[in-house]
Amino acid sequence: MSHATINWISESVLRASTHRPFRVNETALVGHQNLLGEVIRINGDEVVIQVYEDTSGLRPGDPVAGTGSELSVKLGPSLLGNIFDGLLRPLASQGRFAKPGAVQTRGEQRYPFKPSVSTGQQLAAGSIFGSINRTDARSQRCLVPPGCEGEVVSVVDPGDYDEDHPLLLMRCTTGDEREISMAHRWPVRQPRPVAAHLPMEGPLFTGQRVLDSLFPLACGGRAAMPGGFGTGKTVLQETLAKWCDADVIIYVGCGERGNEMAGVLHEFPQLEDPNTGRPLMERTVIIANTSNMPVAAREASIYTAVTVGEYFRDQGMRVALMADSTSRWAEALRELSGRLGELPSEAGYPAYLSSRQADFYERAAHVRTLNGDVGSLSIIGAVSPPSADFSEPVTTHTKRYVRCFWALDAGRAQARFYPAIHPLQSYSEDIEFLHEFWSEQGNPQWAAQRRRFLELLEEQSRLERMARIVGKDALPPRQQLVLLCAELVNEAFLRQSAFSPVDRHCSAARQTAMMQTLVRLFDLAGAAVAQQVSVESIRTLPVMRQLLRMGENIGEDQLEEFEVLAGNLEAAFTELTGSKSSDAT
Ligand code: ADP
Repeated sequence: MSHATINWISESVLRASTHRPFRVNETALVGHQNLLGEVIRINGDEVVIQVYEDTSGLRPGDPVAGTGSELSVKLGPSLLGNIFDGLLRPLASQGRFAKPGAVQTRGEQRYPFKPSVSTGQQLAAGSIFGSINRTDARSQRCLVPPGCEGEVVSVVDPGDYDEDHPLLLMRCTTGDEREISMAHRWPVRQPRPVAAHLPMEGPLFTGQRVLDSLFPLACGGRAAMPGGFGTGKTVLQETLAKWCDADVIIYVGCGERGNEMAGVLHEFPQLEDPNTGRPLMERTVIIANTSNMPVAAREASIYTAVTVGEYFRDQGMRVALMADSTSRWAEALRELSGRLGELPSEAGYPAYLSSRQADFYERAAHVRTLNGDVGSLSIIGAVSPPSADFSEPVTTHTKRYVRCFWALDAGRAQARFYPAIHPLQSYSEDIEFLHEFWSEQGNPQWAAQRRRFLELLEEQSRLERMARIVGKDALPPRQQLVLLCAELVNEAFLRQSAFSPVDRHCSAARQTAMMQTLVRLFDLAGAAVAQQVSVESIRTLPVMRQLLRMGENIGEDQLEEFEVLAGNLEAAFTELTGSKSSDAT
């Protein structure tokens, strides 16, 4: 075993003289209290270690012992429904951590195990050897850990076992025998292996129109949600957690101020899964790091979260990971780098900020698992740029790795326009993977309609600038019509309250009906204006009110009402253009 003696301490970073060699990324037990640390640099016979726990009380001369293994976490059935710190230690309800080595609540609970393999059977790495069948949302499958394959020597009978109880004895191809339990450990900085990366296919459907219809995220994709304070990041994350069609939600709160995280810890366990009526927590794992916890644990927490996500993905599940906020995580990186005396790069962040962000986002994927199933891990990272400046380093580097960018806009939030996603600053590069989905949902025209909406919004912004100079009335009728149509896209389609019982979730069928109704209106209105009908008379048509309120007034079980609305539109325009042509005669 490797040993060292501390000779320099600066909060969570320390230097120690080695007596026996260490490896980079090896974990170490520090001081007489055995605090958990990780070797991050080796300099001749000196090692630099970041410590994941409070270092008060450590002194030069205290010992450091290497463990020989990388920073790893235990993955098993006790994850779902629970709250952990950045190293996956259970977070007790009072907001305190279980001490390492202290009795852990994980591992004590028993789970109903049913084996699906028998003695003599050959098992490949990552295959399923049994299941935990529960009446709530926490049913799971048990995996042979990646890297372990061989023949089943013995297997336990069905029954209740704790997650560390040996269930399977395997004779590995390497010759040694290995006991397998429901839980296994995995190093957090190492992506878990898969059989194949699959092309994206279909969305992570969210029920939010501005996302699904305009800036969709493919299942297994990566998105960023930048926005200043009060722009609705938390509400949007909760809405996504509730409504997105993932099987498992991983929520990692990195170093938000203590009271904000306390809010999440209080609120999340009370959320209800709208599809089942059961607590949403049953299919959620929360990883919480507040900024008063050691900075190194905050740095590790997003890798822990992504490892947990991959573990559920490997069971053939759809997983959505939400990180709030990656800016606080980047600040942890900056602080650690400062303590190491590294040369700062942009805005004081270390030069490796960008590659660390890549390590995180690039673990999002749509895969064929080692077991042959299809699983996915989608990542949504919130970014909180100081003074909402999207040109700062964390936001700009994030943009390099995500394919969807959902920019939350302070102006929209101030006007209480929610979700405050700015349609001209946001984008999605996943459109090509979504055509088939929308065609199957009965809207083969989706891409063209989406383009039309975005073009209207873009033209609106240009015309509004012009109208500020010349006045709206001076614009030609066609341009006035653009302004009217863009207003409808905003008000009737993009605005969607997370708190409205009817509109907080919008199915693909309802989104399609709303899009088609609006497009029909644009066509009718365009034709009417071409026949010299005034834009004002279109604006004041009574049917416009119905159109504006369609999200609130037409629920999921009343989709036929959209046909009635379309009929009303046709009738109103027939009357309008008819009266116009009779005026002319
Ligand atoms: P942030 O986390 O960015 O600081 P919050 O998510 O706490 O902001 O949002 C601030 C407030 O804005 C919320 O309390 C809520 O009243 C309102 N809000 C945000 N998003 C929505 C939404 N989608 N629908 C309705 N109201 C919203």
